[in-house]
Amino acid sequence: MRRLVLASGNVGKLREFRALLAPLQIEVISQAELAIAPADEPYATFVENALTKARHAASASGLPALADDSGLSCAALGGQPGVRSARFAGDGASDADNNAELLRQLRGAADRSGHYTCVLVALRAADDPEPLIAEGRWQGEVIEVPRGAHGFGYDPHFLLPGLGCTAAELEPEHKNRISHRGLAMAELARKLVSLGHW
Ligand code: IMP
Repeated sequence: MRRLVLASGNVGKLREFRALLAPLQIEVISQAELAIAPADEPYATFVENALTKARHAASASGLPALADDSGLSCAALGGQPGVRSARFAGDGASDADNNAELLRQLRGAADRSGHYTCVLVALRAADDPEPLIAEGRWQGEVIEVPRGAHGFGYDPHFLLPGLGCTAAELEPEHKNRISHRGLAMAELARKLVSLGHW
């Protein structure tokens, strides 16, 4: 069993990644369990932030590392909130604050389309010259009135027109199969399996 440190303290993400990587004989430990402080996320792209987080965790632990960075990008807002999704209404903002800010900025917009993005980066070591990178996108529309009690973040306002429900109305297993994070995880798993050196 190989060990890999997850550059996140999020318990939900830890559970998802453990389930995904166990069949590949990879044991996932969170950086919080190793008392590694979270890295800053100062960059304007998901991939740079994920790479920075993975490098930080690999450097601090001496283990291979996996990081993700994700967010919601709205067409009418030029891709905002994007990498600033977690703090769209300011540092320390709650999901409710961020949702209120999103609806405020989209008021009057004809185009309510947006997509979630998730970028995953896996490194064998902090100085790995060939990071494994996987990306998933999930298209939807931002609606005014929230629906559903599952998920987190912008999910109650993220309508999936093809399914006729919001991301917050999906059962967690269903969301995990089709979401930006689920798609990115599936791509990463394919790459891990096909690359012999991992
Ligand atoms: P991070 O990947 O933990 O940095 O998350 C960034 C932010 O993007 C979250 O705090 C949410 O605001 C938003 N976000 C990312 N993925 C999702 C999702 O699946 N549902 C709802 N919001 C999300």
